[in-house]
Order: sequence, then C-alpha cells, then structure tokens
Amino acid sequence: MTALTRPATLTDELLERLVARVPGRSGATWKLTEVYTGDVLVELPQSTPEDIEAAFEEAREAQRLWSQWPVARRLEVFKRAHTLLIDNAHATADLIQAESGKNRRMAIEETCDPPMVISHYLKRAEKLLRPTRRGGPIPFLSSSTEVRTPKGVVGIIAPWNFPFATGLSDAIPALIAGNGVVVKPDNKTALSPLHGISLLEQAGLPRGLFQVVCGEGPDVGPTLIDNADYVMFTGSTATGRVIGERAGRNLIGCCLELGGKNPMIVLDDLDDTGVEEWVDSTAFGVFGNTGQICMHIERIYLPESRYDELKSAFVERARNLTIGASYDFGPELGSLVSVDHRDRVASHVEDAVAKGATVLTGGRARPDIGPAFFEPTVLEGVTKEMLAGRTETFGPVVGLYRYRTVDEAIRLANDTDYGLNASVWSGDIARAEAVAARLESGNVNINDALATAYASKGTPSGGVKSSGVGARHGDQGLLKYTDVKNVGVLKKQVMGARPGQDYDAYVKQMLSSLKLMRKLGVR
Ligand code: NAD
Repeated sequence: MTALTRPATLTDELLERLVARVPGRSGATWKLTEVYTGDVLVELPQSTPEDIEAAFEEAREAQRLWSQWPVARRLEVFKRAHTLLIDNAHATADLIQAESGKNRRMAIEETCDPPMVISHYLKRAEKLLRPTRRGGPIPFLSSSTEVRTPKGVVGIIAPWNFPFATGLSDAIPALIAGNGVVVKPDNKTALSPLHGISLLEQAGLPRGLFQVVCGEGPDVGPTLIDNADYVMFTGSTATGRVIGERAGRNLIGCCLELGGKNPMIVLDDLDDTGVEEWVDSTAFGVFGNTGQICMHIERIYLPESRYDELKSAFVERARNLTIGASYDFGPELGSLVSVDHRDRVASHVEDAVAKGATVLTGGRARPDIGPAFFEPTVLEGVTKEMLAGRTETFGPVVGLYRYRTVDEAIRLANDTDYGLNASVWSGDIARAEAVAARLESGNVNINDALATAYASKGTPSGGVKSSGVGARHGDQGLLKYTDVKNVGVLKKQVMGARPGQDYDAYVKQMLSSLKLMRKLGVR
C-alpha cells in the first residue's frame, strides 16, 4: 500500500465539530472511515425516530420566519454563500476525498456544483417566485393570480457518490423558495454536506432551518418521509421505488433521481481530431469518479466499419490511466467507495467473464493500493444475460458493442429499463441531433459523455423510464418545492343568467361569447 499523507485540514477537532450537530439521543454511532486506508475518522451519531421528529419541528419553526423574508433578502444569503463555498473549495475537497475515496479532480469539480446552482437561481428565482397575474374567465372583469408558496419542510435523501453536491445543491432551490430542509446523507459520506451547511450558516442562513439526521436508510427513511412535505431522493432505482411508494401513500410530492445503464453511440464520421476528443471525453465519461457517476457511460456502440480502430484507441487510453490513493492531483482514478461496492463491481466482471465476455484491459481489484480499489476495465462480448449487460454496475467498467446500421444502434441503446443519460458522437451535429431525438433518455450529450447536460443549470435534468420521476435544475428544479395558490378575483357578479333573462337566451349568449373569445384570443 502506498504511503498516504492526510491533509492537515482534517483534524479531529474539525471532524468532531462537524458531527456534533447530528442528533443521536440513543448514543449509537457509526464508524465513518477514510476510504483510502479503512481508518476510522470519526464516530457519527445515529438519529432515532424521536431525533428526526425533533429535527423537523425545529426546521418548521425556523421556516415560518424564513418564509416571511422577501426573496431578495434570502438571495443575499446565497450570494455570500457562493463566495464562501468557492473560497473553501480545497478544504471541502479534502473531506470529500477522505469519505468517498474519489480522486482530487473529481472532488474539486464536485465543490463547483452548489455555486453553479446558486448562480443560476440568483438570476432566476425572483422572477419564478413573483406572483403572476393571468386572465380570468370574464375579460376585464376577472383575473387570476398564480401565487407560489413554499411546501414547508423538504426531506432530502442523498447518496454517497456526490455527497456534497447532492446534499447541498438540491437543498439550495428548496431554501430559496422559502422552505426548511432536513437532509439525510449516506452514513459513509456525511462530513462534506455537514461542512457545506456550516458554510451556508456562516453566510447568514438562519440556524435550525437546515437540519441533518443520520442513520441507515431503512431506519431513518420512514420517519423522515412521514414528517416531510416533499421528498427529494437521489439513489438507486430499488430504493427510489420504496421512497415513491411511501410518499404516494402520504400524498406528498417527490422527485426521484435514480440509476442508469447509459449508452453512447459513436457514428462513423469522426475525423482524427474527433477521435482524440472522443477518447479523452469517454475516458472521463466511463472512469470519472471511478465509474460512480449516475450519468456515466456503461455501454459503447461502435460502427462495425471502424470498430477495431476505435476499440484499440480507447483500450490504450484505459490501460494507461493512473490509479492511486492521494490527496493531490496525481492519480486519474481514485478508489471505489467501499469494499462492499468493490465486491459488487467485481461480481459483475466475474459474471460477464463466466458467461463468455472478454476482458480487454483491467478486471481486477487492487488491494495493493487500498482496500476498495478496482482497475479501469473494458469488456467485449457482453450480452443481456450478464449482470453487466442489463443492470447498473456503477464502477469503472464498460462494454464495447458493434453495430451495422444507425437504426440498430438506436434500438440497442434503447433496449434497457433505464433512461438517464446517453451520448452521441459525430462530426455532423445535425446527424447526432437526429439520433438524439430517437433516444429514450432524460439527458443526451452530443460530442460529450455527460458533463454538458448536467452542468447546464438552466435546463431541467432528470431520468425517464426506471431512471426517475421529476427533475432538478431549471425552473422545475425550484418550482417543484412550491405549492401553487390560484387567487381568482371577480370585480362584478356577471356569471349566470341576468334577473328575468330566459335561460335558453343566456346559454346561447354564453356559447357564442366562448367562440368570440377564442377568435379574439382572450384566455
Ligand atoms: P441507495 O439507494 O442505496 O442509497 C441512497 C440513499 O438512500 C442513502 O442515503 C441511503 O442511506 C438511503 N436509503 C437506502 N435505503 C433507504 C430506505 N429504505 N429508505 C430511505 N432511505 C434509504 O443508493 P447508493 O448506492 O447510495 O447510490 C448509488 C445510486 O444512486 C446509483 O444507482 C446511482 O446511479 C444513483 N444516483 C443517481 C443520481 C441521479 O441524479 N439520477 C445521482 C447520483 C446517484
């Protein structure tokens, strides 16, 4: 195992201070470890149902005042937070790396997500939350106004793969819309969201408004959902179904951002520069975050006519990727998040090989580097009978496939229960767009693997099919945290027959005015 220098920022004092805000009246704790070494970093309190109820009560009380603040005043907090989050990016990245094992580049890029979300809503939120006057049923005499009110307290359940981004970025529009938040991070990765929340409070977010509870999902989930006014969940499709069922029973809304089995189609017209860009972008799109990005590519469809050339360029790149445990920018790949997850990834590769797939590079765990490392792996000959051919692997493993016609490639890409992300590569953007239009996917990246669509904060991003319900980002990413109140005003009672008017005459007049209103464009 390589000698590892832990950053000086990760002091016991800091870690104890971060976890001190997690309620845990039973005294039970969970050992949160540094992934690179398996060493225990801190004992994380585990919240009981009573702790969770108390957290909601406190958030609800703070939310009553917060929702009375004018939107512009709430946004002032987020302007300051934007600066603080950027100024603290390196300290945040230290925590993200320690708890998740990802490499430095990914940890730093993760710290950029909440500021990007803040920037977008700083520009957009006032317009979205302003009451909007609309026409009423009787021209000139009536109107209706769409008034947006916060839901109350939003429950957020976040995964371990982007703990800082999913812990904070989904909370930001909820808070801007006037809600309180109770977040449940994954036990493994509670430190960076706790740190982010303390930065928001330094920026002026009222204490009590943003609560954190911790524990295993099935222990914490039911009480959290039963107390929430809306649930924002990011995680696996299997857990998403459990969350959605409970939210449905409680008649509250939920947004579910789930897994994928994301395909990439390379068309046959890439020139040399295009191939170089494709190799670089795809190396990141497959192996970035050690393959633990929900939108990462697990299936690559290559044209028969160029299969050998593209395969050898990509395999060569994968073979040369550097992998290591380090808090500096050296290694291109870090660790998987845990030994359990490493075993799951290894089982997909073993199953594929046992059923006839070929390993073109990688394929092995690397305990010599750290407990949960796994090599970048490229497979060929994967079929739908194999785990790696049909279910999400969520690791640094990809299958290469040949296609003969574009129709065949599209059919194969769509042949999955998932629909989160897809990527299309071509020298001709219009050609790629025509393919994109036929893909069943919530996000499609053209001439990029995954980042462009996700980083476009003005456009909603979510999954279709088994990859999710609802979306984050864009107008929808904020408005989903509001209820709409339709305030109708009638200046004079004119509906119905006038006194003494024959009802047949009234109906005739009403029906013809409906036609007239449509002709005049009156809504
Ligand atoms: P997971 O579903 O196991 O856990 C996600 C969160 O849910 C964790 O905090 C966990 O503790 C909690 N949880 C588990 N069971 C629960 C229950 N019964 N009730 C309430 N909460 C429960 O997923 P994971 O393994 O942590 O994350 C990886 C998955 O997340 C992958 O499938 C990945 O594709 C997906 N993901 C999706 C997106 C997206 O935007 N679509 C983003 C990141 C990750």
